[in-house]
Formats: sequence, structure tokens, C-alpha cells
Amino acid sequence: MGCSPLYLGIDAGSTASKCVIVDGAGTAVASALHTSGAGTVGPQVALDKALAQAGAGQSEVRFACATGYGRHLLPWTDMQMSELSCHAKGATRLFPAVRTVVDIGGQDAKVLRIDERGRLENFVMNDKCAAGTGRFLDVMASVFGCTVSKLSEYDAQAQNIASISSTCTVFAESEVISKMAAGEPIPDIVAGIHASVVERTYGLMRRLGVEPDVAMTGGVALNDGLRKRLEARIGRPVRTSTLSQFNGAFGAALYALEKCKDK
Ligand code: ADP
Repeated sequence: MGCSPLYLGIDAGSTASKCVIVDGAGTAVASALHTSGAGTVGPQVALDKALAQAGAGQSEVRFACATGYGRHLLPWTDMQMSELSCHAKGATRLFPAVRTVVDIGGQDAKVLRIDERGRLENFVMNDKCAAGTGRFLDVMASVFGCTVSKLSEYDAQAQNIASISSTCTVFAESEVISKMAAGEPIPDIVAGIHASVVERTYGLMRRLGVEPDVAMTGGVALNDGLRKRLEARIGRPVRTSTLSQFNGAFGAALYALEKCKDK
């Protein structure tokens, strides 16, 4: 049987579900997200949205690959791949010269080293603590009463970088509340929060060495203020794409396509 034109990748993440559909050339034709992750209706909602975007029914999907935290909860998929493999695969397609991928999601932060042939060579991950992850930023945004998407705007207005000395999310939250009560401007506090995430990220990056090109994936890649601070810290451009948050699902879709071609 020949390959049908559609291949699906689904990433059941810790906080969000992402679904990407690619055609036979590996080009993304649909990408959808739902803001609830593994073990919820999120994967199904993201799947339905992506199919609607592609104007396709599930029967038109030739092969599906699941990844992410909840990949084992999607028995209807044809294969499962680890997030690390999918992120390496997706990032190499998005940024062909990439050697270092910084993936910051809702629950963890990872740095991946990719070899010249686009294969995963090595990786490091944050410890179990939420600091330096999307969760840390979500908590801080809720202290300011804004959405995470607003943090970048605040950062752009900063005159100074507030010092956030606590690395623990709970203590940092109290520190932020005290700074607000003391009248420190929110933009400066946000800049301090971003600087603290960047410091943790840089700590992870140094363990692997910062080899260009550097790309950022995961939902936190949408935070341009943080990305710019990371660029300044490492002294190199940090690439992102509109598919950055979908990178795991995109890589999964590319694996589905590859598997089908192998067959
Ligand atoms: P996971 O795969 O673990 O579910 P994601 O890679 O989807 O995580 O990233 C989720 C995180 O991305 C959230 O915790 C949030 O901090 C961040 N995020 C999501 N959307 C935005 C946005 N529009 N602007 C900035 N940050 C965002």
C-alpha cells in the first residue's frame, strides 16, 4: 500500500497537548494546541483541531506517532518516541545547522546536543525543581495577575534588573511579592525573573558546551524577552520558529513519515 499524504505527531505534554500534521514532504500542514496535557481531553482536542485545520479525517492519517509525558496514554497511535528524539528530529528540520537545542516546557528544561548529521548526541536536564521551567514563569505571571504571554512586554519596559536571589519557586514567589509591596516596578521584577531563568539555563548549557547554531523550543521559546536575555548571556543568536512549541509533535510527525517510508 502506498503512503497516504498525511502523517501525524502528537505531543501529550505535562501542561499542553500539541498536534502537528505533515504531508509526504514533511511540511507542516496543520498545528494545534490545547492547554491541558497528559491524562486530560487535551490530546483529543488538539487532534480534532489539527484535523479540522488540515481539512482531513482521521482515516486520512497514514501513520501517527505519539511523544511527550503522556505518550503511553494514546494507544490509537502507531508508534511512540521519546521527547528527546522528537525534539532532535524537529529541531534539525526547523534549523538545519542546529547543534544546541534549549527546550523549556511546562515542567522541565533540557539542553540537547545534536551532531552534524542531526542525531541526538547528548543531553542534560534540570533537576526535579520547577525553577527554570515554564512552571516558574506561570507562577510568577499569576503573582502579577497577567498571562505568561505578557511577561515579554513587561521585560521590554525594564529600566533595571531586580535581583531575585531565591532559586526555589516558592521562595522566589515570596520574594517577588515583597518586591512588589516595596514598590519595585513590575517590568524590573520580570527582568529579574527572566535573568534568573536564563542563569539556570546557562548553567545547563555550560555542562554540554554552547555550540552554534543554538535554537530554543518548548512553550517558553514564545517568550521573546527571555530569549533575548539568553542571547545576551551566551553572546550568540538563539533561533526560534512559530513551530517551536510544536517541535516535539513536529518531530513525532516526521518520525511517522519516516517509518511509513521505511515500510
Ligand atoms: P509541556 O510540553 O511540558 O506541556 P510546553 O512546551 O507546551 O510544555 O510549554 C509550556 C510552557 O510554555 C508554559 O508553562 C508557559 O510558561 C510557556 N508558554 C506558553 N505559552 C506562552 C506564551 N504565549 N508566551 C510565553 N510563554 C508561554
